[in-house]
Amino acid sequence: MSDDGTVLCPGSYDPVTNGHLDIITRSSQVFERVVVCVVNNPLRKDRTLFTAEERQAFIEAATAHLGNVEVRIFSNLLVQSARELGAKAIVKGLRAISDFEYEFEMAQLNRKLDPEIESIYMIASPEYSFLSSTGVKEMATFGGDVSDLVPGPVAAAMADRLAER
Ligand code: ADP
Repeated sequence: MSDDGTVLCPGSYDPVTNGHLDIITRSSQVFERVVVCVVNNPLRKDRTLFTAEERQAFIEAATAHLGNVEVRIFSNLLVQSARELGAKAIVKGLRAISDFEYEFEMAQLNRKLDPEIESIYMIASPEYSFLSSTGVKEMATFGGDVSDLVPGPVAAAMADRLAER
């Protein structure tokens, strides 16, 4: 397999939503190999609902049917991980205007760090363009039904984890 066909899909994925899975699935149809990178940011450890290993396991289970998708935890610079994994590009989902400003900055910073790693943006599908991990957690906290928004095992684990708090 040529390295040119590898892309990274980075994110916190706390937890993975159907919106993330839409981007991962669509990427897997365009590129040869998709490495989903779960960000393990030690500075934010106490603020995630799930550990990096739990977040990785949810994505692995939800993408098990996609033969060219793998999931890794990373805690270094994204462009450095891209180099190490032989990826030429970073693929991210773009929801509304609010995503654009942040992503514009990230893309420019990553380009400055490594001009050879391209940033590619995929427009969110309309049915998921309102969906964020934060929104799902807020809904679940107040007992809202999130079963249409995240994979079944994630909805169940969220209910358990939030009940512990
Ligand atoms: P968030 O916490 O904002 O949900 P992450 O940091 O886990 O997101 O997101 C990883 C990537 O997935 C980002 O590029 C983000 O824009 C994208 N993304 C998140 N939710 C969606 C969605 N519903 N549709 C498309 N892309 C999304």
